[in-house]
Amino acid sequence: MTMKEWKFKENQNLKTASAFSIKRVLDDVKNNVNPSDERPVIPFSHGDPSSFSCFRTTQVAEDAVVDALCSANFNGYAPKGGALQARRAIAEYLSINLPYELSTDDVYVTLGAKQAIEIVLSSLRRPGANILLPKPGYPAYDALSILNHIEVRHFDLLQEKTWEVDLEGVEKLADDKTVAMVIINPGNPCGNVFTHAHLQKIAETARRLGILVIADEAYAHLTFGRNSFVPMGVFGSIVPILTLGSLSKRWIVPGWRLGWIARNDPDGVLKESGFVECIKRSLGTNTEAATFIQAAVPQILEKTTDDFFVKIIDILRKDADTCYECLKEISCFTCLQKPEGSLFLMAKLDLSNLEGINDDMDFCSKLAKEESVILLPGFVLRMKNWVRVTFAIEPSALEDGLARIKAFCERHATKQ
Ligand SMILES: *Cc1c(COP(=O)(O)O)cnc(C)c1O
Repeated sequence: MTMKEWKFKENQNLKTASAFSIKRVLDDVKNNVNPSDERPVIPFSHGDPSSFSCFRTTQVAEDAVVDALCSANFNGYAPKGGALQARRAIAEYLSINLPYELSTDDVYVTLGAKQAIEIVLSSLRRPGANILLPKPGYPAYDALSILNHIEVRHFDLLQEKTWEVDLEGVEKLADDKTVAMVIINPGNPCGNVFTHAHLQKIAETARRLGILVIADEAYAHLTFGRNSFVPMGVFGSIVPILTLGSLSKRWIVPGWRLGWIARNDPDGVLKESGFVECIKRSLGTNTEAATFIQAAVPQILEKTTDDFFVKIIDILRKDADTCYECLKEISCFTCLQKPEGSLFLMAKLDLSNLEGINDDMDFCSKLAKEESVILLPGFVLRMKNWVRVTFAIEPSALEDGLARIKAFCERHATKQ
């Protein structure tokens, strides 16, 4: 039988986009773990502490889901954009910290904050468009921008200025085709928390440039340092803002896949420009969050008591201190900044203090092999020869893991 050729070919764009996959790089690192090492593997690598018993979610949330499920009222398809009770509850929850009220109409329910990113980026797609992303940042923005044919440009977060946005850099990068900038606050991967004054400057810069602000607040309220959390939406009358959030991090249920997009746009700029319709169309072509999780949202947001949040913040604060104090004393790390929010910190490798280690990937691979400890190499966040450390792990595992990192660094230290 003759045939010209198979017509299906790989999508090159997907290949470029998947270079920015944390999961893929971590799989490569984990492959080095020695199976005969009987010690537990310590995951300093990903932002999902749900498997540790001290990070179990509140019973309020579990009960809310069980009640919704067992009522048999939520077995059908969810409405596009989300169930009204869920949208109303999220609008009320977010409005507590805003100088104006969000309406049900300002909120869309998504499958986690991740789908919120997908929907917003697919709505921004147009020929020649570019977007400004933080470096270091969250690689899903890079991957999804590439998939949507939006050109990616990176502005720096300034380590010497507590990881604030390099606003001069932002102004230099932007041009007529720039549509939006992304900020992540509290910060993944730097563990920083922006001040009210800095957020205002970001809003003013974006207004001058005429661009949308996408405020990723996946770690909203997870702060334990000097600055408390200020939602970007506070500045919605300066510049239109789309705030992305979810239950995943604050309630430690990332597998429940419940997130949202909130329109912080009291002057209606997004509606007038047709962008809201565009988001609705994008939502219409995507999958909705599970109905019984959506139905549980009002109870989860309204009934979770402070003692749950306080307990989690206490663990995170202690974990962050332990981690920072330990790594600071190890000579192969420099430029550490004490984390004040989220679940992460960035540490720079000082390769001159390490013998036989070529770069961040080499460091993480050998650490996995010799100590069964997993760190994320910085290159995937465009920070070569840095590592991202997640301190959100059970305190005893944290101490164990830090001791192993210390032993590894001492073993590989340059002989003086
Ligand atoms: C975890 C995370 C997300 C995705 O959150 P989900 O709700 O689990 O989809 C988005 N942005 C940042 C910065 C994150 O760390």
